[in-house]
Parts: sequence; C-alpha cells; structure tokens
Amino acid sequence: MGAGFSGMGLGIRLRQRGHTDFVILDQAADVGGTWWMNRYPGCACDVQSHLYSLSFAPKSDWTRHFGPRAEIQSYLSDCVDRFDLGRHLRLNTRVDQACWDAEKKRWLITDQDGIVRCAKFLVTAIGGLSRPNTPAIDGLDSFSGTVFHSQQWPDKLDLRDQRVAVIGSGASAIQFVPQIQPDVARLDLYQRTPQWILPKPDRPISPRRRDLFRRFPFVRRLFRFGLFLTLESRLPAFTRYPFLSAFHRRQARAYLRTHINDPALRNKLTPNYEMGCKRVLMSNDFYPSVCQPNVKVITDGITRITPDSIIDDHGRSRQVDTIILATGFKATSPVPVGMIRGRNGRDLANAWKDGPRAYKGTTVHGFPNLFMLLGPNTALGHNSVLLMIESQINYVLDALAWCQRTGRDTLEVTDRAEKNWNQELHKRLGRTVWNRGSCASWYRHPLSGRNTTLWPRFTFVFRYLCRRFDPAAYDTR
Ligand code: NAP
Repeated sequence: MGAGFSGMGLGIRLRQRGHTDFVILDQAADVGGTWWMNRYPGCACDVQSHLYSLSFAPKSDWTRHFGPRAEIQSYLSDCVDRFDLGRHLRLNTRVDQACWDAEKKRWLITDQDGIVRCAKFLVTAIGGLSRPNTPAIDGLDSFSGTVFHSQQWPDKLDLRDQRVAVIGSGASAIQFVPQIQPDVARLDLYQRTPQWILPKPDRPISPRRRDLFRRFPFVRRLFRFGLFLTLESRLPAFTRYPFLSAFHRRQARAYLRTHINDPALRNKLTPNYEMGCKRVLMSNDFYPSVCQPNVKVITDGITRITPDSIIDDHGRSRQVDTIILATGFKATSPVPVGMIRGRNGRDLANAWKDGPRAYKGTTVHGFPNLFMLLGPNTALGHNSVLLMIESQINYVLDALAWCQRTGRDTLEVTDRAEKNWNQELHKRLGRTVWNRGSCASWYRHPLSGRNTTLWPRFTFVFRYLCRRFDPAAYDTR
C-alpha cells in the first residue's frame, strides 16, 4: 500500500531479488507519495538529495543540494521504468479496508471500487505524514471563500490581489509563504508557535560535479557518506547533550536579527522553547518575506471564522478571500478507524488509541503477516528518513526469505517482544529534547503525550537491529 519512497523502495528490492508476485497500490494518479501529493509552490526537501534518495537506486545528476519537489517526484517516476515496476503498479487505487482472514491465512484488501485482492503478506507504505490535520475552528465550514489544506493545493490557483490567511507556520508554510507573498494583496500569517529557523545551505550542483559523480560512482558514494556522517553527528545534541546545539541556536538567533529589524516582529518570531523540541526548519526566504509590508504575523489565537472573516482572541475581525490551512498532519494517528483489521477483527486504529506502537517500527501483535514501512517511532529528527526505510526493507525481505526457507505461512510478533521493544525505546526517548522540551509537537500523541514517531538512536543502530529477521520474537506457523 503506497507508491512513495517506501513502497517504491520495497518494489525495487523485491525485483532485484527476483520476486515478481506483488502489486503496489496507490490512490494517486502517479508515484511519489508525499512528493506527488504536496504540490504547493516552493515545496522542497530539507535533507540533501544525495542522501534523500535510495542507495540502491542512485542518481548522479541531482541539480541542487536540496531537491525540489518536482525533481524528487520525477526521480521516483524514473524508477518505474528503470526497475520495471510498471506492471506491478495499480494507481488510482485507494485501499479502503484490509482484513486478515485467519482461515485462508491471507489479507483481503478492498479498494474503492469494491475489488478485493488477496495477499499472503501486506506491507503498509503509507507514510507518517499523509493524513491532513484540519483544525477544529468554530465556523471554518461556513467560510464562503476558498479554503484548502496545503497538501491539497489546487492546480492553477490564482492568488493575485487576493487577501489570504495562512493558518500555521510550520515546515510547509515557511516554504510557500515566500512564494505567494509577492502576488497577494495581503497575507495574514496566523502563527501559534514561532519556529527555530536556520539558513538553508542550498545551491545548484554544478554540471562539472554532476559529471564527476556520474563518471566516478565511488566519489558520489563518498559524498553521500560524508552527508550521512554530518547529519548523524547531530543526534547527541537532541538526545543527551543539548549544549551541543549552542552553535546552531546562536546561528538561528543571529539569522533572525539580520533579517528582522522591527523589534516587535522579531519578538513574535523568537522561539521560547528548546531548539529541536519541534523539527528545526531551514529557509532563506521566509524571514525576508514576512517583513514585507503586505504581510502581518498574527499571534493572537483564532476564536472563530465567519463566511468572510477570521476573528481573533481580541475580537478583531479581518476579511479574507482565501484561507490556507498549513496545519500539518495526523502523524500520531496515521491509520483511519476501520482500515486495517487483524486477527479476530481487531482494528489497528483502535489498538493504537493512545498512540501507535510496534516492534521495530514494523510489526504489530495481533496483525499477522503485516509489515509497516515508516511505522511507529521510525521517523527522524536528525537524519534522512530513507535510511530507516531501507533498514525496514532489509528486515521485510529477510522475513519473507525466512518464510520461504522454513515453509512457514504466518508470522505474528509476540506481545512480550513488542512490549520489551517499546519499554526500552521509551526509556531512551524520555531523555531527549523531543520529550523533555517544553513545546507541543506532532512527534507526541495529543492525549497520552507518548512520542510515537521518532527513533531516538543512531540510524546505524536501527540498521543493525533490522539486519536479520528474528523468529524468536514471533509466533510462527
Ligand atoms: P507542522 O510543522 O506540524 O506545522 C503545522 C502548523 O500549524 C504549526 O505552526 C501549528 O502550530 C499550526 N497549527 C496546527 N493546528 C492548529 C490550530 N488548530 N490552530 C492554529 N494553528 C495550528 O506541519 P507542516 O508544516 O505540514 O509540516 C509537517 C512535517 O512535514 C514537517 O515537520 C516535516 O517533517 C514535513 N515537511 C517537510 C518539509 C521539508 O522541507 N522536507 C516540508 C514540509 C513538511 P503549533 O506549532 O503551535 O502546533
């Protein structure tokens, strides 16, 4: 399920191992997952392209250090032909339900047209940030102008001379605000919490260097390894040694001072919580754009929305034509109720009421023969998430090979193995800035406060732990 980096990555590795009996289902009209869905202007990655790409599907000719959305999507699109995945893809196919049939020992997967597919193994590759979070603001439904979530940016949207309100000031907003600001008549940016923002060291990759990477793959691999080490070395600042982020804190403050002269605006944009508690953002154009005369950063909360205005906590009403919800995703409830049902009809979303949990972020007790890529606690605050996806792919492939070797039909992680894994994981998370920090973030479940998204250790540790399938942690039949 899913033709983003996870689903495509697994598809490629399956083909490389000679497997052909699989399909990749995706609701979208093309591959790319999040990079297909998110089409807002300025959408780009904040991890360097040479590390934010699959190690087993290298690309030498990335045009920039940080890939723009279109280039990342076309990289995945190129992988379809490159690895002959076309015949495995079922696009425009939304999975509505997947149920485990204990008698048949198969997953029955129903799509939006009622077509049921039968599979021995099901792998969810639906990403952690695919379900938009629509804020529960009184009167939002009554708004008569245009309103949409940043993930559902309309094609051919014309914002020229419009009065636009942007709700939210996270990673997505800071990318599209500078793009739309020159066109709009007025932009009201409703900011609940200021962000730590660093300059983005982005620049084109010269044709000479691209040629070098193409002709000498070893140099490209070395470059990638250098990026990996640089990002990996950031982990201790997030986990046990916050003093290590002092340099970046100073850099972020200096960067803010350089661009924002107005003390009141600077004050609004200064974060008052530990760096790293929320995802650290990177941008070269957000600060310059929010100090333009047609932008207002509004830090008062929103009380309600009327058919043509937004009313803030102080009762001030501001008329707008368009509202853009840059309010993020339901990262801590990635699966809707009723979508995945395991043994005895157990619903995955209900089993995860107080937040997702899994064994190695990949398998869940009560859900035989189900694997998740980018499952609970496999996202990263310090490095490329593709490293985690690749480790999980190794694990899944080894599990499949083990089943083939031993003739077993079903695997289900034991309750004990899952509990032990989570106990250790959450002990480690407790010491990190993501848990200790005095901020609210999408990393933590809103009710239980449990951090259900991040991996708190080095990525190579996860790679090591996923290097082989471990049958002792499973009931196998
Ligand atoms: P986000 O970072 O979670 O930001 C959501 C914003 O909406 C926050 O400013 C939040 O305020 C605000 N918000 C949420 N509910 C609200 C409400 N009811 N009323 C008012 N404000 C509300 O979401 P995002 O910008 O979509 O990014 C999510 C994640 O996607 C990122 O952290 C990143 O991992 C990924 N992403 C990456 C890139 C990239 O550069 N590669 C680009 C876009 C997204 P609070 O901060 O107060 O909660």
